[in-house]
Amino acid sequence: MELPIAFLEQMKELLGEEYPEYLESFSRPTCGGLRVNTGKISVEKFLELTRWDLQPVPWVSNGFYVSREEHAEGDAANPAKHPFYYAGLYYLQEPSAMTPASRLPVKPKDRVLDLCAAPGGKATELAARLQGEGMLLANDISASRARALLKNLELQGVENMLITGEEPERLAAVYPEFFDAILLDAPCSGEGMFRKERSMVSAWSGKGPSWYAPVQSRLIRQARQMLRPGGYLLYSTCTFSPEENEQVIAGFLEEFPDMELCPVEPYEGFAPGISVGGRDLSACVHIFPHRIEGEGHFLALMRRRGASVDREEPSGREHRSDALPAAAEEFLSHICRDWSGGRFFCRQDQIYYLPEGVEPAKGLRYLRTGLLVGTMKRSRFEPSQALAMALRPEEFDFVLNLSSEDERTVRYLKGETISLGEREAAGKKGWLLVCTDGFPLGFGKAAGPSVKNKYYAGWRMV
Ligand code: SAM
Repeated sequence: MELPIAFLEQMKELLGEEYPEYLESFSRPTCGGLRVNTGKISVEKFLELTRWDLQPVPWVSNGFYVSREEHAEGDAANPAKHPFYYAGLYYLQEPSAMTPASRLPVKPKDRVLDLCAAPGGKATELAARLQGEGMLLANDISASRARALLKNLELQGVENMLITGEEPERLAAVYPEFFDAILLDAPCSGEGMFRKERSMVSAWSGKGPSWYAPVQSRLIRQARQMLRPGGYLLYSTCTFSPEENEQVIAGFLEEFPDMELCPVEPYEGFAPGISVGGRDLSACVHIFPHRIEGEGHFLALMRRRGASVDREEPSGREHRSDALPAAAEEFLSHICRDWSGGRFFCRQDQIYYLPEGVEPAKGLRYLRTGLLVGTMKRSRFEPSQALAMALRPEEFDFVLNLSSEDERTVRYLKGETISLGEREAAGKKGWLLVCTDGFPLGFGKAAGPSVKNKYYAGWRMV
């Protein structure tokens, strides 16, 4: 592959005697990865359930390698086509890209911001770490990419979330010193993906490090405005350039003495950051494709000095819980769950549930606020795909559990009507939560010996 001379010069200087090994990495195959959604299933249970022969990504506790060669398109064992993918049990992600979310301290009940989140590779892991408690605000300025973000978060069953498509400066005005943990996975020149996506190389020649560095410096300052004292900020890129990495961090730490660099949980394959202007940045981490099985990333973990103060809620909150239409109440009576921590609200014909601590503020462009429970179609209530993904089978009164190997599972995912055996059909009428091996896929409506397909058309298996 033709690489830009200026890029090669930069890598030679950065890597020194490791430079030939880096060049050599272009002749090695790239690898894919799968990250278990621990918001739905533990790693142990996942391995038991799938019995797939998966090699662990050694520095990410829920990450595994997936060989691209072994799984041809359409192959039933292809993880991108398997029913468990549609059940949100994992996210397909390149291994180096699993690192940033794995190194940001996030615990249940935290308020977490992913400022540049689409399509959600890292946001889905941050949500899993919250275990349904606290809130995730996932933002991305690109409307089309933010729609992919919404789909991925809903597919993984996340409900304690807000999704926005905002300029960070507008978010900072609403959420000053608000978040416990912030991920800034900044837009960058993408040098770390050169092996995997050749198109990044030509994009680099148009917009290289000097184009991105000022954008990144602006974004990191805006991120800090939203970080509470004592909170953590993780800056990451998928590029190697010191101009977009160490220099951004050095300038930021210089400007804001209340920010301190923290060590990143180590792995032997990581390389330390280089010093800039006499500032030691060895606590930063470079991930290079010649040192690990995967591509390239950069990480800097920082903490805002000081202790947390009492939490202020964002301005413009509404606390009312709306009265629900009778048909929605009736449907919800079949869900065995304590909704009292949060509140329902209706917007036009749509009904949402906001879990505790998840409150939209006025004036921001939200793509999703909490869980879309369903839609009123005249006097009928239709539950949403997102609700199906957020439920556990034991929470719903009527369940059809199909084995992942039952051919009806794939037919259901393709949007077809499926038939019920005599025993399966007994006593089933109306809405059913269709599951695969105990994990929800979507809704269907039982009508005699068959199930009318209610799987969301936009998500169908093709
Ligand atoms: N974190 C994502 C993931 O793991 O799937 C990848 C994020 S990608 C590296 C950077 C993202 O930043 C892009 O989706 C881009 O649309 C978004 N972006 C660019 N400028 C932005 C801005 N000013 N504010 C918010 N997002 C921005």
